[in-house]
Amino acid sequence: MNITKLITVASMAFSFLAAPLFAESCCDKAKAAGKECSHACCVEAKAKGEVCKKCNK
Ligand SMILES: [Zn+2]
Ligand SMILES: [Zn+2]
Repeated sequence: MNITKLITVASMAFSFLAAPLFAESCCDKAKAAGKECSHACCVEAKAKGEVCKKCNK
């Protein structure tokens, strides 16, 4: 068995699975849980009717 190929495939599969987790912002996670994001920067942005640019890239 080619171990190098196995590791390459495994790492590719991992990064593919992990990508959506890293893409999710604190606000998305809070929304998914039915809550408002409690980060001060996000609360401030929400008060202005915006989304926090620091956390939502
Ligand atoms: Zn947030
Ligand atoms: Zn924020």
